[in-house]
Amino acid sequence: MYSTMQDVQLNVSRILQHGMTIHGKSTITTWTGEPEPQRRTFAEAGTRAHQLAHALRDELGVTGDQRVATLMWNNAEHVEAYFAIPSMGAVLHTLNLRLPPEQLVWIVNHAADRVVLVNGSLLPLLAPLLPHLPTVEHVVVTGPGDRSVLDGAAPRVHDYEELIAGRPTAYDWPELDERTAAAMCYTSGTTGDPKGVVYSHRSIYLHSMQVNMSESMGLTAKDTSLVVVPQFHVNAWGLPHATFMTGINMLMPDRFLQPAPLAEMIERERPTHAAAVPTIWQGLLAEVTANPRDLSSMTQVTIGGAACPPSLMEAYDRLGVRLCHAWGMTETSPLGTMAHPPHGLTAEEEWPYRVTQGRFPAGVEARLVGPGGEHLPWDGESAGELEVRGTWIAGSYFGGIDAEEIRPADKFSEDGWLKTGDVGVISPDGYLTLTDRAKDVIKSGGEWISSVELENALMAHPAVAEAAVVAVPDEKWGERPLATVVLKEGETADYETLRAFLADEGGIAKWQLPERWAIVPAVPKTSVGKFDKKVIRRQYAEGELDVTQL
Ligand code: AMP
Repeated sequence: MYSTMQDVQLNVSRILQHGMTIHGKSTITTWTGEPEPQRRTFAEAGTRAHQLAHALRDELGVTGDQRVATLMWNNAEHVEAYFAIPSMGAVLHTLNLRLPPEQLVWIVNHAADRVVLVNGSLLPLLAPLLPHLPTVEHVVVTGPGDRSVLDGAAPRVHDYEELIAGRPTAYDWPELDERTAAAMCYTSGTTGDPKGVVYSHRSIYLHSMQVNMSESMGLTAKDTSLVVVPQFHVNAWGLPHATFMTGINMLMPDRFLQPAPLAEMIERERPTHAAAVPTIWQGLLAEVTANPRDLSSMTQVTIGGAACPPSLMEAYDRLGVRLCHAWGMTETSPLGTMAHPPHGLTAEEEWPYRVTQGRFPAGVEARLVGPGGEHLPWDGESAGELEVRGTWIAGSYFGGIDAEEIRPADKFSEDGWLKTGDVGVISPDGYLTLTDRAKDVIKSGGEWISSVELENALMAHPAVAEAAVVAVPDEKWGERPLATVVLKEGETADYETLRAFLADEGGIAKWQLPERWAIVPAVPKTSVGKFDKKVIRRQYAEGELDVTQL
């Protein structure tokens, strides 16, 4: 027996129409570096999205599921592209502007992008790549920037504002199959070629609803979200779509991602929420410690993408800003867990829950798998690789135009679950604690040492700004931890003291304490601001680090 319910497709165009009508007065504020930011209502941005779709189809000839790429910061025009491109049936391909040029070239060619929308400030990055991008026929430039670098370029060059001006303000959105591609994002793989994750209209729709649930970000039209997490990184954690569903105002930093302008925009625009990776919050903390600013409007911050050191959470607690830890991946859209403690607890009782990666929402099923493929219990102790499945979780990667999708055995189980590559434990009440990436675990004499636990303990030391721990080869034990430490400005600390701190304050067992240490000026970061441990391992292997052995 079938249901008697209507079968309405969960299309991105429906989110757009809802946002621009029901929440038409909500705003997207984009930082410009000028005395006044740019302000645009959802109604205005939505209307411009209709015009952009007309321009793409009527002027540039975009049809079917052709890919339209964006090489853009977080701003109102990028939000317009987010809605126009999938709504018309084309595929939005967000390009990570921090990738090395050769990877960007590989990705654009693999996706066969036909059009690139680019912020003027990023033209120096795009221009030299164009001769290597044979599928790109049009470049559309938005915002300030020297356009002369495109002189002589093969693709036709358009100005965004001129292109959309005067176009019809109502596009007749096609009724798409909700399972078709809406957007794509490549993971910056540490080994092998980047992998394309392709989101469907349905996955975006369902994920956005989850983002808005109270046990997730739970924001409303009364809120303003400072969206620091880039729109080129997993759809800015789903926020541009989620905001149009519930009318949450957006504050977009554009290219002003340094701690000082971020602090200024928080003080001036008073967002109630923000989303970013831990390194952003580390940087902002150092900034407001040196130059105090009023951050008190931000009652909730979503922090994820890498483990949040508990010491960072405590520091923000003292500023009245509550960090809420979340876990996810490009392959999981990304919302996988969020660390809201159970209700009715005291602050002290909440703490052990807040420092976990959090609980799985209803749409995400999880299991832990041991080294022999056995399923492990949720007892808070048995550590294994996390596997997940759900409606907004990838089941394969994009194989290329006219090629089959790919399902590498190290990323997908035979029964279709995503192998996350993350190692951790799950408590009986469903809270996930990650101890490492599978490839970052330190295997010392047959026992596992968690690099994350050592890092968190080190970063609690008052002199330490950042710490990254990696496995290095050891003759006796197979592998041992190497601790690389960035000291706060003007601070000093010797290795013996730090080691003693780990044992005394961090509760780290003696056999887990690192004997190899290096003070470094900065921890190398990936294109999305996470610790880049493969660079540290290479620096060590090539003797580039000044290592002291205790
Ligand atoms: P990406 O696809 O680039 O977003 O990277 C996803 C990976 O980031 C995950 O598989 C984790 O290893 C890591 N990650 C994301 N969120 C967290 C978190 N809250 N704690 C620890 N690691 C995280």
